[in-house]
Amino acid sequence: MELIDAHAHLGYEPLLGDVEGVVARSRAAGVTGWVTVGTGKEENARAIELAGRFEGMYAGLGYHPHYAQDVTAGDMELLAEMAKGPKVVAIGETGLDFHYNFSKQPAQMEIFRRHLEIAVSAKLPVIIHSRNAFDETMEILKDFEGKIERMVFHCFSETAEQAEFLIERGYYISFTGVITFKNAEGARQAVAAVPLERMMVETDCPYMSPEPMRKQKTNEPVLMVHTAKKIAEIKGVSLEDAAARLTAATKEFFGI
Ligand SMILES: [Zn+2]
Ligand SMILES: [Zn+2]
Repeated sequence: MELIDAHAHLGYEPLLGDVEGVVARSRAAGVTGWVTVGTGKEENARAIELAGRFEGMYAGLGYHPHYAQDVTAGDMELLAEMAKGPKVVAIGETGLDFHYNFSKQPAQMEIFRRHLEIAVSAKLPVIIHSRNAFDETMEILKDFEGKIERMVFHCFSETAEQAEFLIERGYYISFTGVITFKNAEGARQAVAAVPLERMMVETDCPYMSPEPMRKQKTNEPVLMVHTAKKIAEIKGVSLEDAAARLTAATKEFFGI
């Protein structure tokens, strides 16, 4: 079995301090690929460094919407430059987070657009973070559909209807361990609505360990097997079949 963690923050502590161990445990369980995602200047540099160090590891680069109001024009130029680096396979995560509103909403929308423009010129797919901002996210994305070949809603937390809407428009959808949580019936309905050919699986580690390991404070890629098992169960296929199709979709999305 081969699985790829489509969204991990391996540059965050405590994962970074034990990254050799994290990677070794992951590989032993069949999770043999990782897209490690930057959320700020330092993390972006670290993502590139980590991707250079491990076979099967790739980098996504962006400034998280939480920090949007502090992002300067110079930071965006730096991102455009870094995006040319080897093993950089996506722009993001970027998007809108109107749940926490750590940055003012106009700043989030402005910086989201700047990321999308960079993705167009870099010809890279985009990792979208959207929370409590579905309509506003779509309003911005409609100007970029057709210009950016592939976009994924990561840590998908919308309804099955919204999942169907996105699939019809050509988007990919990525699920975290949240789908294993007892009270997450809505998320499981969304999994049922998305074809495996357009679905990815991710940890978003170090956050949100899946059941039955939810009590483990630090999530890491080895635990993603539980999430993949849940997807297989919902889809009524074997874990091997689900893993093969999720991995094919992930490779196609990132061009790896
Ligand atoms: Zn996110
Ligand atoms: Zn993330």
